Amino acid sequence: MKDKENQTGKEENLLTKILKERCPNCGKGEVFKKKNSIFELPVMNDKCEKCQYYFDREPGYFIGAMYISYGLAVLQGILTFLIINTFFSEVSTIYLVLIIVAVIAAFSLKNYKLSRIIYMHIFPD
Ligand SMILES: [Zn+2]
Repeated sequence: MKDKENQTGKEENLLTKILKERCPNCGKGEVFKKKNSIFELPVMNDKCEKCQYYFDREPGYFIGAMYISYGLAVLQGILTFLIINTFFSEVSTIYLVLIIVAVIAAFSLKNYKLSRIIYMHIFPD
């Protein structure tokens, strides 16, 4: 169904493009190269294979993505705290902190990729 929509040229919405890690310009090309294992660090393509859009606009372009990554990590920490505090209220504070740190560490590579893609959508030029 979804592939059929893409073949008709219907553009995917913004959230879908971000979550699928697609080019901010055309929404079709992959921003990151395929990984061989989950422990491999993400590597960006230089440009979109579909529309030739350059992802790294200028030196230091992605420094601002650090703030988005920080915001995502804080959001995940708060959500983890709320879930644990609501459903497992007897967990002691030290374990609560360790669980929050573990969740943030587990999502760090995803945050790295998402923050760069969100940043490219906010500042396309
Ligand atoms: Zn593209």
